[in-house]
Amino acid sequence: MPPSIPENLEKVRLRITQFEQKYGRPEGDVSLIAVSKTHGPEMVREAWNAGQKAFGENYLQEALAKQEALADLDINWHFIGPIQSNKTRAIAEHFHWVHSVDRLKIARRLDEQRPASLPALNILLQVNISAEESKSGVSIDELDVLAEAIALLPRLVLAGLMAIPAPMDDVAEQRQAFRRLREARDTLLAKGHDQCRHLSMGMSHDYESAIAEGATMIRIGTHIFGLRE
Ligand SMILES: *Cc1c(COP(=O)(O)O)cnc(C)c1O
Repeated sequence: MPPSIPENLEKVRLRITQFEQKYGRPEGDVSLIAVSKTHGPEMVREAWNAGQKAFGENYLQEALAKQEALADLDINWHFIGPIQSNKTRAIAEHFHWVHSVDRLKIARRLDEQRPASLPALNILLQVNISAEESKSGVSIDELDVLAEAIALLPRLVLAGLMAIPAPMDDVAEQRQAFRRLREARDTLLAKGHDQCRHLSMGMSHDYESAIAEGATMIRIGTHIFGLRE
């Protein structure tokens, strides 16, 4: 029998606590987002029953179907996938956090479409911190201008930054990439974006490095739910 979801969660939580201690982070500073993409609602329910309350999804249609199947649970939903303009309304209506905002057009639409009955939407700006060509993420150079514009949108809270660096085995390289995101966050904080404190970084293969460099949210799929098809 492979380990169960509750056992996997227990293991990941233990490691988070160990890494918080090892790197001098306050206890409980790192929150765990369980990335449930491609896995069915029954697996999300199992994780929820084991105490996991925050889940990350990449694909809108799949996420909406899961949300409907799990409407009886009090789940904190995070959208972490690429965003097309025609998807913003449903994202603004159905998620608590959006990690993957990388251009003003998308931010404006989320702002306009966030229902008045809900609190302002927490967003993170996805930053391209890898040297290699990548389509998603605002560059560090353009971050400042984007943040200034987004700060004016009343229905959004600029709550931090997110990155998906190119996969690297070398720990020093992993840490260097995550450090760039932390420095970018610190620059925005110093410029008065005072709610911009979160760093969403670190996945199954590199979350120790991410925690070492200040991650406040790690996004873990494989180590909780197993390999995806
Ligand atoms: C799939 C995904 C994850 C989780 O990756 P694992 O390697 O399975 O932990 C995290 N973040 C994003 C943006 C993803 O798309």
